[in-house]
Order: sequence, then structure tokens, then C-alpha cells
Amino acid sequence: MAEAEASFAHMGLDARLLQAIADLGWGKPTTVQEAAIPLALEGKDLLCRAKTGSGKTGAYALPLLQGLLNAKMGPSVSAQVVRVLVLVPTRELGRQVVSMLRQLASHCARHVRFVDVSGSEDMSAQRPILMEKPDVVVGTPSRVLAHLQAHNLSLQDSLELLVLDEADLLFSFGFEDDLKRLLCHLPKIYQTFLMSATFNEDVQALKELVLHNPVTLKLQESQLPDSSQLSQYQIRCETEEDKFLLLYALLKLSLVRGKVILFVSTIDRCYRLKLFLEQFSIPACVLNSELPVQSRCHIITQFNKGFYDYIVATDEQHLAEPEVLQQGKKKKGSKAAKIKGQESGVARGIDFQNVSAVINFDFPPSVESYIHRAGRTARASNPGTALTFVSCSESAQLAKIEAALVGEGNAVTLQPYQFQMEEIEGLRYRCRDAMRSVTKQAIKEARLQEIKEELLNSEKLKTYFEDNPRDLNLLRHDQPLHPAIVKPHLRNMPEYLVPSSLRAVVRPFIGKQKYRRRKPLPSHTKGQQNPLRSFRYTKRKLQNPAKRKKTS
Ligand code: AMP
Repeated sequence: MAEAEASFAHMGLDARLLQAIADLGWGKPTTVQEAAIPLALEGKDLLCRAKTGSGKTGAYALPLLQGLLNAKMGPSVSAQVVRVLVLVPTRELGRQVVSMLRQLASHCARHVRFVDVSGSEDMSAQRPILMEKPDVVVGTPSRVLAHLQAHNLSLQDSLELLVLDEADLLFSFGFEDDLKRLLCHLPKIYQTFLMSATFNEDVQALKELVLHNPVTLKLQESQLPDSSQLSQYQIRCETEEDKFLLLYALLKLSLVRGKVILFVSTIDRCYRLKLFLEQFSIPACVLNSELPVQSRCHIITQFNKGFYDYIVATDEQHLAEPEVLQQGKKKKGSKAAKIKGQESGVARGIDFQNVSAVINFDFPPSVESYIHRAGRTARASNPGTALTFVSCSESAQLAKIEAALVGEGNAVTLQPYQFQMEEIEGLRYRCRDAMRSVTKQAIKEARLQEIKEELLNSEKLKTYFEDNPRDLNLLRHDQPLHPAIVKPHLRNMPEYLVPSSLRAVVRPFIGKQKYRRRKPLPSHTKGQQNPLRSFRYTKRKLQNPAKRKKTS
């Protein structure tokens, strides 16, 4: 019986939707889908807390599509009108939502039409599409409001369903005033789904604005998968140099395999790390708010296709400059906060696929940030690892994160990663050499060069590649930036430098597969093959730092 309840077939969904679900390989509904879909189909307003990667888009997209099919396929022929509005905080999320809707509607594509107006193109280019009254409009609050005010869109007599996705970000990104104005353009009665990763004050305020007697789904699940799916480790690093040394060893010795996201605290740190890895011929992409939105989407698409192994990213708490964040807090509707906000969101809402590990190279600034970073791996039913580098001054913050995770119902929190730093002491002089080459000037130049190139790419992406989508694959984002001189001898790791205890298990990464597309590890083998999960050093006392200096 339980089995029967946990199936899409028993939810009363249209056969064409069930076919699309089968095409996507979704065997059974996720927890949030199982709880939300039947209530949504009954016409209830929903306030739904759904964790990162929980399948929340499907949870509202399926009842949304079912409602459209009911309305359009019923006995009386109804006029073509905009029935559904989905509000999202970022363009990236807008694209993703429409892409998910298209996939789920692939067997009824003739009957339902969508438009994403969150993109950067001119409003006048979107006008003719809106004039055709697509069934679903997806967009950021400010762009939708602009269309309403320009009379390109009217919802007053037709809106049946409003969805607020990543609702906690909608207010914090400075959309508050726009949202309030937008609500004046909506009819008195419509159904609303409010999806949010957290229930904070902003969500409470939104709830009062848009929901009528909602059912609240605060599902009894932690925000992160359990330890059978997500392994969480922490490793103490005594110095900044130790962090670089450890990362060099982990990547070069292939102790972390598959696709990895490296989180750092600032944009400059993105480039410091990219240039550092470049010294060892380890290609990595940089992803941050400074890059044009087309480039960011392209990087993620290529990463998902397996073109790159490593992305160095900042998370949204640090995407905005501190003063903009403060401005955004005090005066949420301010233009600066708005622009930054619309452009932000590397860690939130974007769907990275098949990420085998997240490395917190810099400690996450908050519990929320930790959860969102770690939530980039172990998505759907794939296994994953989150490894956090912790310096001595960050112990208190670590304790806070662990307490929050235990409070969330996780039995096990961040396990100490049993790694003997002295085993990799032989690599320290190379690491130091590489760190020295990455000067402040080199970082500044790399940052400028990357923006210039990405702006160019972005233009190319917009025009030429629209007509030649195949050529998109030729454009790579992990090319060396080279402002720091790369020493060729650092590319390879001689056998004698590989720690003896590791010689049997590791295969040093020598970067020759740089331009070859890598296949993700099959999910069933990942847990066994990833040495991060399976390998253990025997515990020994750490060498004292003074002694270590001498040996290097
Ligand atoms: P979301 O939380 O909506 O961003 O979804 C996260 C990922 O889970 C997406 O890649 C979806 O395709 C996938 N997904 C959603 N629902 C299911 C399901 N019922 N079974 C398996 N994967 C799913």
C-alpha cells in the first residue's frame, strides 16, 4: 500500500505527464512531490519548505501542467490566456524552470506554451511573445512588473496560479517593492504555491501578502541527505599554506575524483585558486557574479556535460560587495541591491549535476551557506562528499554548523578526515613555489582578462551560437589565464614525491586529458572508487611546524 501511495501513477496525473516522468527516469515521487502534488491538485494554497535538490520544481510543475491540461482539454473551448505566473529570483533559475516545464510537457507540447522573460534581452523583443498569451510566464518580479506596466502583459482577468520559487531569495534580492506593486496587477482569487528553502522573516512577510489559508509543508526531513548518501568531512589546516598544499595533494593525487566544486570566500580568491591550480596544469573554471550571465549558464551547462572537472565558485553571501549587501538590508528596493541581486546566486537555485564532491576551501560564512554548498552534491539519488577545510580560528563556526545539522535531525555530522599532513610534506616546496608565482598583480590581471574574454564570449554566445548551437562546445571556460608564469616541471608529479602509503591506490593527475570530455563515474561505483570515502591513513601525531619548515 505504501508502495502504491508513493507512485506518480496514483496521483491522477494525465498519461502524457506520466510518460514524460518515465522519460526523465523518475521512478517515484520525492518526499516533497508526494506531499505537495495531491494537495496542489485539490486546489490548496501551499507554503512548502523544500531542501536543495529535493525535486521541488517537479512538485509544483506537475500540478501546474495538470491544471493547464484540465483547463485546455475540457469540453468547453476556452480562450488562450496567461493562466500561470512563476516568479524566480534569478535568470538562471528562470531558464531552469522553463527547461523543466518543457521536459515535463514534452508529450503535450502542442497544448501548453511557456515563456521565460527573465532573460537579458530587450523587453521589446519579448513583447510579441507575450502578446500571444502563452499559458505560463516565468520571470523575475522586476521584469514581469515592467511588462505589466508597459501593457505587454495582463493578468487581471486570467491568472489562475501564482508560483513563488526560491521565495526566501525573492525578498532578500531586493524585489520587495516590485513584488508589492506586481500584486496590484493580479486578480482577487488565484491559487498560490510558495516554495522556499528556509522559512525566514522574509518568507513570513511574503506569506501574509500572497497566501490564503495555506497548507504548510514543513517536511520532516533534514536539509541535507543522510550519511549513506552524503559523506561530510572536515579537516583542520594549521596555516593558509596548508590549505593550498592539501588541495594540491587531493587533486594531483586524484584523492578526489569526478566533478568537484571548490567554494571560496571572494572573487579574488577564485582567481588565486585558479592560477595556483594552473601552475600544476590542473584546469579549472571560475564562476562568480562578475561574469556575464550567459557565460555563467554556459559554464554550468558544460560542467554538467562533463567538459570540466573543477569549478571554483563564490556563494551568494559574498557575491555582493559588503556595502551593497548592507544597502540591500537597509533599503531592500535600492537599485544597486537589485542589480547585484538579479545577477547573484551561484550557490542557490542553479542545478549542478553529478557533482561528486564539494570542497569548502574557505569556510562557509553561515550555516545556511554550508547547507547550500553541501547540497550541490549528493543530489537526487547520487552519492556525494562535502569536505570542509577548517583553520584554528574557525572552530567555533564549525561547532555552530554541527549543532545546526544535529538539530536538523542528522545523526552524524562532519567526520574528521583522517589525513596525515606530514605524508605530503614532500610536496610543500612545490606548493610554496606555485603560491609565490600567484601574486596580487597576477590575480588582478587574470580577473580583468577573464571578464574581457567572457564579455566577448557572452556576445558570441548571444548571437552566433544561437544559430549554431553545436559550436557552443568549442568555447571553453577553463583555458589557462597565464598572468602567472607556469613552470612546466610542476605539471607532473614524480613517483618519489607520491607518499609511499598512497602509491598503490592513487594515480597522479597529470592534466593530459585537459581537452577530453570526462564521463561522470557511474553512480553505483562512486562510493567505492572515491578514495576520499574509502581510503584511511593510520593516525600519527602531527609534526611540529618548525620542524616542517626545515624539511621543506
Ligand atoms: P530540484 O530540487 O527541482 O532542483 O530538482 C533536483 C533534481 O532532482 C533535478 O535534476 C530533477 O531532475 C531531479 N528530480 C526531481 N524529481 C525527481 C524524482 N521524482 N526522481 C528522481 N529525480 C528527480
